[in-house]
Order: sequence, then structure tokens, then C-alpha cells
Amino acid sequence: PILRVAIMGLGSYGNRVAEAMMDCKRAKITGVISGTPSKIKEWQSKYAIPDKNCYNYENFDAIKNNPDIDAVYIITPNALHHGQCLRVAAAGKHVICEKPMAINAKEGQEMVNACRKAGVKLLIGYRMHFEANTLEVVRLRKEGEFGTIKFFQGLSGFKIGDPTQWRLNKALAGGGAMMDIGIYSINGARYMVGEEPVWVTAQEEKTDPVKFKEGVDETITFQLGFPSGVIASCLSTYAISYLDKFFLVGEKGFAEMQPSTGYGPIKSWTNKGRLDLPHVTHQTTQMDQMAMIILDGKKPIIPVDGEEGVKDMKIIDAIFEAAKSGKRVPLKL
Ligand code: NAD
Repeated sequence: PILRVAIMGLGSYGNRVAEAMMDCKRAKITGVISGTPSKIKEWQSKYAIPDKNCYNYENFDAIKNNPDIDAVYIITPNALHHGQCLRVAAAGKHVICEKPMAINAKEGQEMVNACRKAGVKLLIGYRMHFEANTLEVVRLRKEGEFGTIKFFQGLSGFKIGDPTQWRLNKALAGGGAMMDIGIYSINGARYMVGEEPVWVTAQEEKTDPVKFKEGVDETITFQLGFPSGVIASCLSTYAISYLDKFFLVGEKGFAEMQPSTGYGPIKSWTNKGRLDLPHVTHQTTQMDQMAMIILDGKKPIIPVDGEEGVKDMKIIDAIFEAAKSGKRVPLKL
């Protein structure tokens, strides 16, 4: 069977996902949810979507009675994910939700609970969890190729433009760089190291308080401590471009990935040489795999469920707390 997906939020990433889905074998766009009628028209002609599968933000609860839609993919500003997820779950449809799943762990947990109660699946748009080079590095680490892991470094950042965009508006973004791009280093530290962190320390730096208002982080460096003693040292920033790098080192070897999470080919090498497995558009692989998770009950190698999303939200909550207090914050994931 094919997973029939309605896309909610026809913005820049929604368009990228939709284009990528044209090459999917197991997933297909059958509906849209948007507040902009002109965009709905464009999408209808591009993806052959009938009028009866088009909704806006007021009436999309009616998706409940639409047998042509199995899942809704939420690709709207971060702060809207929570409420939209609850409504989709109440309509009895599976939820695929972009990262960050919410703007704090409490909201994330409510989403998990709502989907569980409604008997629908909740998956987070962690496209790297299906990327071949990433999975190969994780496999090598599990096989012991790098020996006992000692340290991880994650660098995630880009220089953000337009100061009026929602990403710099606390009410819609829930924060700044950390919610948007720093989350890649958080999530990456967890799947590269293969453990869950037990403490966090963090330091915040703000050079432009006009552009980066109260509650919108510009640059945060943070450290995660893992049960085995591994330390992760990471950077999240909206002030420096070309930051997209993971480095994992153990007693017997290392893996380095740069770019490590960008849309294009992931470049990776280890102490034994280059990996560079062939590039497949991430979102195409992601949506085919998510269809198999939802329809066939397939288990992904790196989880993409709501619980996985909540772990990252708990770490973000702790990073903000640590940056504020200057203290080490214990974590229980
Ligand atoms: P965008 O601004 O390009 O698109 C957001 C869409 O939401 C727009 O079409 C906008 O009209 C719509 N929207 C609905 N209600 C809105 C409201 N009240 N205010 C503002 N916009 C509203 O943003 P984007 O880059 O597509 O990001 C959307 C989500 O996707 C974010 O959560 C982001 O973190 C995530 N994202 C994920 C990846 C990834 O690689 N997984 C990449 C980019 C973005």
C-alpha cells in the first residue's frame, strides 16, 4: 500500500518535501492544508490534488472524514506544531511533524500522549536517520570499529538573514538557532555516540540583541555528558555560516562528516578512508521509510518517533536552563 499524505504548511521546506516525494514508491501527496488559496491552486495543479482534499487552518478537522488521507505532515513554524498535532490526532490521522517537534518537552510529551490516545503514529522529520552515510558511521561504531567512544564534536550553524522572518520571532520559533539548527548537533550527538546524555552545561553569546531578541538565541556552546564518560562539545549559531560538521572519536579510530546534515551529499571519512555512499534525496528516502514504519510496522535503525523528539526537547530545555544559570543541569531521558 501507499501512504497518502496531506502536507500542512506550503512554505519552503514543504515545497522541498513535496518535490522529493515525486520520486517516492511508498508515499504520495493526496492533500494540502494551507491558509493561502493561491498556493493551494498551484499545488493542486502540480500534484493533481482534488478540491475535496484541500483544507485551510480553520476547517482541517474535517480531514477525519476523508478516506483519501492517511497522514498529515506538519511543516509550519515550530510553535504551531503542538496545537496542529493535537487536532490531526483527534481527527484520527497519523502525524508526521517537522523538527523541532514543539517548543518544549512538555508540549512534545502532550503530542506523544495525544497520538497514543488516538491510536495514531507520531513521527518526527529526522531525515538524517535514514541517510546512508550516517547509518554507515553508526553501524561502524556499533561494530566497534572506532573502539570505545571518547568524544563527539557537533557544529551546526548558518548566518541568518531577514530579521523579520518567523525564525527570529520567539512566539513562532520558540527560541533561536538552537530550535532550528542546534538541534542537529543534539540529535547527532545522541545517534553518533549511541547513548543518552545525563548532564548538560551551556554558554550563551549574543552580539546583536536587536536582531536576536529576548528568548531568541544567537549562539550557544554546549556540552553533553554521557553515562560512559563520553563528552560531546557542540556549537549552535545563527551568526556563522558553513558550520555543519560531526566528529566522533574512539580509542581505535574516528569518523568525520562534513557536511553532516545539509541537504546535499553527506561527505564522510574515517581513519580507514572515505565513505561517501551515493546521495539520494533525503526526503525521498525519509518518506518511503516512514510509509513502511506507518503501514508495515517497520522499525527504523535510529528511532524517529515522538519519544525520540521529546528527548531532544528535554535536552533543549536543559540547555536553556544551563545557559541561564551557568550550572550543570542533570538530565533524565
Ligand atoms: P517557511 O516559512 O518557509 O514555511 C512555513 C509555512 O507555514 C509557510 O507556508 C507559512 O505560510 C505557513 N504558516 C502557517 N501558519 C503560519 C503562521 N501563523 N505564521 C507564519 N507562517 C505560517 O518555513 P520552513 O523553512 O518551511 O519551516 C517550516 C518547518 O519545517 C519548521 O518547523 C522548520 O524547523 C522545519 N524545517 C525542517 C527542515 C529539515 O531539514 N527537516 C528544513 C527546513 C525547515
